[in-house]
Amino acid sequence: LELASNVSRRFGDQRVLDGLDLTVGEGEVVALLGRSGSGKSTLLRLLAKLDEPDAGRVAVPDAVAVVFQEPRLFPWLSVLDNVTIGLPDTSSAAGLDALAEVGLADKSHAWPLTLSGGEAQRVALARALVRQPRLMLFDEPFGALDALTRIAMHQLVVRLWERHAATVVLVTHDVDEAVLLADRVLVLDAGRIAHAIEITRDADGAVPGPELLARRADL
Ligand code: ATP
Ligand code: MG
Repeated sequence: LELASNVSRRFGDQRVLDGLDLTVGEGEVVALLGRSGSGKSTLLRLLAKLDEPDAGRVAVPDAVAVVFQEPRLFPWLSVLDNVTIGLPDTSSAAGLDALAEVGLADKSHAWPLTLSGGEAQRVALARALVRQPRLMLFDEPFGALDALTRIAMHQLVVRLWERHAATVVLVTHDVDEAVLLADRVLVLDAGRIAHAIEITRDADGAVPGPELLARRADL
């Protein structure tokens, strides 16, 4: 999928993205690293069609789902209604399935404000999954979670991404997370993808240490 070709986005006289190209394979998980302010969220918003480039082309599949750092649930809707919002009334069974996939089947009638941070983020994940997206975009989805919850979320998303053969663009500033979760790690710098590193796992799923990656990518 050629998601972005020669894409530029500037704010005032600041060129945040400058002739950026991004292609991902079907079923590939790509992690996007880069310094704060390098334009990661700007790129994700373009891919999510929440913003438009000044130049270049963004081409994404029809079905795209986005998960942000904050779950962005509607407090006045039940958990299940948050998952199925915008879908036909007949989707409540699919919504319950998605909640079961993230381990929250028993919370379908709960109010978002009664959930823990990790639970709320799992609801956001269920809301993305139920749409059966061809592309999933994540903007630092685990950044606000404590370390143990983050590990649990890593294990959960790896399982879900595999089961759904999901194509994923994951923005993170955590090198370990990028290496752990992604097939390919991209580094955004000076408005473009400055580095691309394939992550090769051995039979045990072990990956090269993040220090090695950081050295290779000049982080
Ligand atoms: P972080 O890791 O801190 O989330 P980021 O890589 O996601 O950073 P962006 O949010 O994409 O960075 O912002 C890139 C630059 O563009 C920043 O300098 C930001 O101030 C600027 N910027 C982003 N959106 C706007 C906007 N709507 N108006 C003006 N400037 C913006
Ligand atoms: Mg950001």
